[in-house]
Amino acid sequence: MDYDVKGNLHRVLDTLPQGVRLVAISKYHPNEYIEAAYAEGQRIFGESHEQELRQKHSTLPQDIEWHFIGHLQTNKVKYIAPYVSMIEAVDSLKLLREIDRQAGRCGRVIKVLLELHIAEEATKYGLTLDDCRELLANGEWREMQHVQICGLMMMASFVDNQEQIRREMQTARNFFDEVKADYFADDNAFCERSWGMSDDYPIALETGSTMVRIGTTIFGPRVY
Ligand SMILES: *Cc1c(COP(=O)(O)O)cnc(C)c1O
Repeated sequence: MDYDVKGNLHRVLDTLPQGVRLVAISKYHPNEYIEAAYAEGQRIFGESHEQELRQKHSTLPQDIEWHFIGHLQTNKVKYIAPYVSMIEAVDSLKLLREIDRQAGRCGRVIKVLLELHIAEEATKYGLTLDDCRELLANGEWREMQHVQICGLMMMASFVDNQEQIRREMQTARNFFDEVKADYFADDNAFCERSWGMSDDYPIALETGSTMVRIGTTIFGPRVY
């Protein structure tokens, strides 16, 4: 292994305040990198492609908690529903319905996050704040027995401007407080704020992230 996964992992973990969890983003990295982090006690890993996740899930330890962090097509939900621990990037009611349906078929309850689109880049997926308000106001989610909405996820713009990143993350933080008060005040499970990646997680920690998703800093550059 040409990368010091163990050292990098501990350097990241040492900077996380109590109560903030690390999702080690292992997409495009081989099993041996994941095993090196696993040997240090890391259990939550994130992947963004269904086939790659399927391959890794079937060959790596079964107590790994897999988070699906990428854009998920509805026709792929059935493949990950039997084992995925959390689906982080729910960006439509249609996808939420399909997760509920497939989780039901497996007799499971799948944890999900609603993905916000706050970044200025046009290519990013996610719900605008108004889309998200509408999805929650619609109320259909309350009838779903097999999904548990645990919080919000977002990606800040991929820019150097630290103030822009901070502004976007603070917007997500304020929006979390709004929907928590409006819809989840009595629901302790709605508590996750998933933001912060290798380049911007220090700002994420300052804006109340509870879950950072870090790949490159731990595993090195991805080889696509
Ligand atoms: C790849 C990815 C990450 C990790 O990015 P790094 O810059 O390698 O830390 C985090 N979140 C999502 C949604 C990703 O796709």
